[in-house]
Amino acid sequence: MSTDFHKSYDAIVVGGGHNGLTAAAYLARAGLSTLVLERREIVGGCCVTEEIAPGCRVSTTSYIASMLRPEVIQDLNLAQHGLRMVPCDPAIQVPFPDGQVVPWWANRERAKAEFCKISAKDAETFVRVDDQLKKLARYLQPFFLEPPPEIDTASVSGWTDLFRVGRRFRGISSHEISQLISFLTGSLGEFLDRNYESEKMKTMFLANNVYGKHGGPYQPGTAIGLLFHLLSGGEHELQGFSGHVMGGMGAITQALAAAGRKCGVEIRTSAPVAQIDICNHRARGVVLEDGTEIRARIVLSNADPKRTFLRMVPSGELGEDFLQAIRGIKMDGPCAKVNLVLAEEPRFTGTPTEAAPLERTFYTLVPSLEFAERCYDIAKFGEIPEELWVDCVVSSNADDSLAPRGKHILTCFVQYVPYRLRQGTWDENRDLLGDRVVRKIVEYAPNVPNAIIARQVLTPLDLERTYCLTEGNIFHGDLRLEQLFFMRPVAGWSHYRTPIDGLYLCGAGAHPGGGVTGAPGHNAAHQALRDWKKGRFKRTAG
Ligand SMILES: Cc1cc2nc3c(=O)[nH]c(=O)nc-3n(C[C@H](O)[C@H](O)[C@H](O)COP(=O)(O)OP(=O)(O)OC[C@H]3O[C@@H](n4cnc5c(N)ncnc54)[C@H](O)[C@@H]3O)c2cc1C
Repeated sequence: MSTDFHKSYDAIVVGGGHNGLTAAAYLARAGLSTLVLERREIVGGCCVTEEIAPGCRVSTTSYIASMLRPEVIQDLNLAQHGLRMVPCDPAIQVPFPDGQVVPWWANRERAKAEFCKISAKDAETFVRVDDQLKKLARYLQPFFLEPPPEIDTASVSGWTDLFRVGRRFRGISSHEISQLISFLTGSLGEFLDRNYESEKMKTMFLANNVYGKHGGPYQPGTAIGLLFHLLSGGEHELQGFSGHVMGGMGAITQALAAAGRKCGVEIRTSAPVAQIDICNHRARGVVLEDGTEIRARIVLSNADPKRTFLRMVPSGELGEDFLQAIRGIKMDGPCAKVNLVLAEEPRFTGTPTEAAPLERTFYTLVPSLEFAERCYDIAKFGEIPEELWVDCVVSSNADDSLAPRGKHILTCFVQYVPYRLRQGTWDENRDLLGDRVVRKIVEYAPNVPNAIIARQVLTPLDLERTYCLTEGNIFHGDLRLEQLFFMRPVAGWSHYRTPIDGLYLCGAGAHPGGGVTGAPGHNAAHQALRDWKKGRFKRTAG
């Protein structure tokens, strides 16, 4: 066993995902000597750009930046470190089996005019619902960048927290409260059935929601995505912003790493942490897989809660109740990713010939709510559905530097698939999944199969093995009401602290959850800094 005590740090961040890098940058900016230890040979976690064929770069996992917090972009000067995003316009686009392609334009009047072609009544409803959703989303917005309230009426801090929440809702009417509760608990499908007459219009909303989470659109709790997608994002704080990142999603984490280094963050890659080093119930560093010990006064884990508490914290350090709660977190990742390099641009039937490249970039292949519901039902019993919901982005049309001239990148997010297969293994079924995805695409873009030069299939098992996502869950824990807000990662521990003094959780498993937001990293760093300023982590001997 080797020791690396000649240099100890104020803070070690385990994991160089975008949240770990965000946390590290804020800590270093506040003057803490900070080390990031990343298991892989590159930083970024599931916000990366990787070469999958010579000269062909792809956002292998996450692929659209929709909720990256404007405050993080500005505080860390990410634009100066090379981050550039181009708004997705259309924000989404759905080709239907009858050949009609419906874009959802970023400009509301333009979107309304487009939806009028489907149903004049629904186009009017769209404006009313959009206003309603945007207003409600504004109430939730502030909670993103602050710890959720710890409901504890036996303590002063519990009452202070409740007061803080109450102030956030100042001015809300009882009608809005009931709307808010029904969006938080209700189903997307029933909401859409109540409000829209056209199946195509309902499908447009479906295509913009329920990504990565458990549950078909008729399951309670699926309407919440309607509000999440209207939180403001991007450099200019636009409500409902979504963007293509120039250079792929890895440009976000490269910018975060550069911002951190500028403040003094040290980043080591190929440095897997085996264990959090704990003495007297207090974190005092880490032990790498090669046995190297590194000391720090605080440790922040960017790994998911199960990996952190069930693998890295030595057994015996945590109480059984806490461990039981962590084991109970619903993960079971329901998604996969298929990345393709093509010898020509995919031609989606029904796309107008005059469409600009950016308008030929985003295609969501999901024909109806019933289709999606059936797909989830099949997957939840451990089968790979014959018919899949595939979200396609021709990212080389948004950024032609991603592939050599003439070649194209088609990155495809797939749901729903099971993490646990009823029969066989994912290693045996990887090609079958890839084939089914291509078979779905061919219904809409017939030239794709003959144009494939390279294909990368990432099953839920691959997401676990390569990207270190326990059970392949892309959000470090399903985004369901009982796993959100003051119940994330588990009730009683939503303030980024953990039962181990000096150990914090800073990844998507903490509030406000998954997606490329930077919010958990930002919030965890600020919590640690508040504790630091109170002098909780004074250096001790040993
Ligand atoms: C296929 C897929 C598609 C997605 N699409 C989108 C999308 O389009 N838009 C969006 O906003 N979000 C999307 N997401 C979700 C989003 O990418 C994640 O929720 C988010 O990136 C999580 O960030 P994080 O920093 O919290 O964790 P991660 O990105 O998971 O980073 C954790 C890091 O910790 C490292 N690590 C773990 N254990 C150790 C250890 N023992 N030692 C050292 N390092 C360790 C890991 O290697 C990893 O780098 C997608 C995710 C996936 C997988």
